[in-house]
Amino acid sequence: MDFLDELMENHEQKKKQIIKPASGTSVASDRAAKQTTSTLICETHIELYQGICTKCGHILSQKEMSQYRQFALLNHQTVQVHRAVGQSQVEEKKKHIMRDRKLVLVLDLDNTLIHTRDVQKQDLKIKSKDNGYIALIDQYKCIYEIKQPFGGFHVKLRPFLAEFLKIIHDQQKFDIFYYTAGTRAYGQLIIDVFKMEISRAYGQEMTRKMEQLLTHKKLISRCDQSRFQNKNQGEMTVEELQQQLHEEIEQQAQGIGGDSTLNIKHFIKSLSSLAGGDESIFIIIDDRSDVWTEVVQDPHSNQKFKRVSQNLLLIPGYFYWETSQNRLKSYFKVIQQTSVQFDFDLSLLLHLKFIEKVHDQFYEQIDNGLEATVKTIIRQLRKNLFDKKITALFEILYNDSTMSKSKILQQYEGDLCNQFGLNIGEYMNGDREQTYLYIVDDFVKSQSKQSKIDSINSSDYDDLSISIVSIYWLYLSCHYYYQLPIKPFIKLKQSSEVSEQRRIFDLISLSLECIDEGMFNDYKKRYKEYQEHKEQQIQLKKRTLEERKENNDLQDDAIIKDKDDVIEEIKQDILNNNNDEIGKSGNIVDQNEI
Ligand SMILES: [Mg+2]
Ligand SMILES: [Zn+2]
Repeated sequence: MDFLDELMENHEQKKKQIIKPASGTSVASDRAAKQTTSTLICETHIELYQGICTKCGHILSQKEMSQYRQFALLNHQTVQVHRAVGQSQVEEKKKHIMRDRKLVLVLDLDNTLIHTRDVQKQDLKIKSKDNGYIALIDQYKCIYEIKQPFGGFHVKLRPFLAEFLKIIHDQQKFDIFYYTAGTRAYGQLIIDVFKMEISRAYGQEMTRKMEQLLTHKKLISRCDQSRFQNKNQGEMTVEELQQQLHEEIEQQAQGIGGDSTLNIKHFIKSLSSLAGGDESIFIIIDDRSDVWTEVVQDPHSNQKFKRVSQNLLLIPGYFYWETSQNRLKSYFKVIQQTSVQFDFDLSLLLHLKFIEKVHDQFYEQIDNGLEATVKTIIRQLRKNLFDKKITALFEILYNDSTMSKSKILQQYEGDLCNQFGLNIGEYMNGDREQTYLYIVDDFVKSQSKQSKIDSINSSDYDDLSISIVSIYWLYLSCHYYYQLPIKPFIKLKQSSEVSEQRRIFDLISLSLECIDEGMFNDYKKRYKEYQEHKEQQIQLKKRTLEERKENNDLQDDAIIKDKDDVIEEIKQDILNNNNDEIGKSGNIVDQNEI
């Protein structure tokens, strides 16, 4: 039994002790029991459940309750613990985690691991009447449907989610928590979906082994916090937040689906509620940075200010269905749309590679007797993403040969270089140790840029290493937290005939072949299976359509009318099938694909 189970067990037993009736049934012993209870009010109440001490049953006043809070790391989501006691338990828990050489990984649900959309009752595919019933409705794309009283929702798993969880289980490097701005009921259903997915991908036995990663205990939801931060109104209680939510949900007449959870304005997730003050072993993966803030003190001015939590790894938001919430920058949007169109999003696996590095460096420092904190390591690793022997030159991209470094740093690309540690050169200074990369538009349209490229290509620079690379090398590397090989990006896009999505798909494919054969082969196999399945379905429908046409030719008018309906139905079916193919994210259908 692990430490957490032990704590929960203790807690369960304490609860039972309170509920358990006094032994004996006589009035006398009842009275005696009451007297004992009344004299047994604790000196300090340790745990509260809904404002009642779990040991002595004392009801605490609002003022007294301010000394208590939830400690998510202790899996005390429903129990409030006295601050001082909770604090020491958290420290104890941290020691356990570190003895197991693990870090705590906090995973956001919506748009990080999944994308959810609400579905109207008539569009549900589930026939069961049970609410909360879950079914796999697309095994190739890993889409699940959850039935709710007035409809339901569809849950699209981000590609490689099962692999991601399985690797985390196998490696034993992370203790994970799911943190959602949604309700507890919603989060629990999503964890149930994960469980089904693991079972589908790896079987029952593996699901049992991975139980620890798939229990509701690992969930932290907005229902689990007693107080919330609101940027405009300051602190608010659960009741106030629920009132606000209730109004929003009423207005939109939406269920408990994921997208509606995004509408909570200024909701802030609190790492301190999880970490109990010590954030040194926490890594957060979330698609939003605005929900994770930390207050820091400027050592010079002593002023306090808020900034994005440094424990956060910002993952590109995963939006399978079209949504107004898509906040991505335009180039990232193209990359994101490509991921959706081809169901080709490798963010989870590549982020996993990054956090493995964070983990390994953390324990390397600990082994060397140093103090280690995740945030320092993340900052350093990010700064070291790119090889220090590479210098990026931007004069062709910006069409400005005299642009200063400080000017470049003000550009979006310059900012990326700064964040991920890619050297910026104002000009080529002839250092033979360096590889110079002229970063250029992927598809060069301007004549002046093209002639610069031609002149560089035709010049002789002795043994200097110089390449002209597509800007997507920079974008995709930062997108994936992984320095991609340069090779696939040297050949620029030749014409505008190839769609941007197709182009990026090819670039990612080519670079992945250079990164990791195994990982990519698995993807290719699945993608091929899916294509074959789709092709078969379309062929089958076409055949049925033709057969019915032939048969109906011999029959009377009444049936011919029927036949038209049938043809229409099949046409609609094929159409829907194709719509589904692009996840209804709209207008990015690649004509070659249909
Ligand atoms: Mg999210
Ligand atoms: Zn008590």
